[in-house]
Amino acid sequence: MSVRGNRAAEKPATVTRGDDNDLADLFARNQAWAKSKTLVDPSFFSRLVGQQRPSYFWIGCSDSRVPATEIVNLDPGEMFVHRNVANLAMENDPNFAAALQFAIEALHVQHIIVVGHYGCGGIQAAMAPATADAIGDWLAPVRAVHHAHPCKAAPDQADANALCERNVVAQVEALAANRLVRTAWAAKAALTLHGWVYAISDGLLRAVCEPVHQDGRGVPPPDGTGRAR
Ligand SMILES: [Zn+2]
Repeated sequence: MSVRGNRAAEKPATVTRGDDNDLADLFARNQAWAKSKTLVDPSFFSRLVGQQRPSYFWIGCSDSRVPATEIVNLDPGEMFVHRNVANLAMENDPNFAAALQFAIEALHVQHIIVVGHYGCGGIQAAMAPATADAIGDWLAPVRAVHHAHPCKAAPDQADANALCERNVVAQVEALAANRLVRTAWAAKAALTLHGWVYAISDGLLRAVCEPVHQDGRGVPPPDGTGRAR
């Protein structure tokens, strides 16, 4: 490639720079939040500096209505969180794999919790015809769970709820087979896997499978009725 070509390639794209005025409200909210924390506990932030020892690793959906730490009323530093569309825990996802490795090997978390939610747009999309785009590719594992349990020609809310629960169980099963989890269990780490579903309608969490302990057993599938236990 010629020098001229390189220079052409390095020409910066035209970017219109604005300012943060549009988001001033978020900065104001941040300042009020930080102030409220220190009013209650003056050493709140100084204690967090340089340490993070959460016992929980939360794998949840990116949905804005399902804020992980807020749902369980935990403060910063108390839960390690990974979120993606439809709360997947796929071993071949490098983003997730890195988070899982950090949770297990650096933080030594004791509980890994997969949390789905009713009314999930990812679940709904996985029940619709596949699309040739990023969302379509990402949701392939959910689509596989859906196709393994055929439902009515015109799926309703109960079918979506059932797939939401089955997807959580499938992710817990994937975690139970994950090399990092297996290695931790072989080293006698106190690590338990959980599968929960959150209902946006009442703000409550439900377990949809038995916790999975050292032996990797104990994940009876949901009954498929859409009812969480
Ligand atoms: Zn969702």
